[in-house]
Amino acid sequence: MISIDLKKGDTIKVMAGKDRSKTGKVVGVDRKSGLLTVEGVNIRTRFERSKRQNQKGQKVQFPAPFNPSKVMLVCPNCGQITRIGHVIASSGKKLRACKKCKSSF
Ligand SMILES: [Zn+2]
Repeated sequence: MISIDLKKGDTIKVMAGKDRSKTGKVVGVDRKSGLLTVEGVNIRTRFERSKRQNQKGQKVQFPAPFNPSKVMLVCPNCGQITRIGHVIASSGKKLRACKKCKSSF
């Protein structure tokens, strides 16, 4: 299992590749394969054939899962891109923390 410190609902920024500098919301995390799906990033187009004849197929665009090594988290508190740190809350729960503003979430 690959550890991804990103969760559904996080906002990330793409640092490299064709979607570089795009930001988007995480809509899926596959912990088994280590792949991330982000709204508006790594868009693929699929043509769905109509089941009936004489009808045009439909073009469907969807975000495809990709390797999260090129993304960074956008801190929900300070809005900066940051690496994810960890803190242990007083409750003993492990929380993620922004390396820049030190807020935990
Ligand atoms: Zn922050």
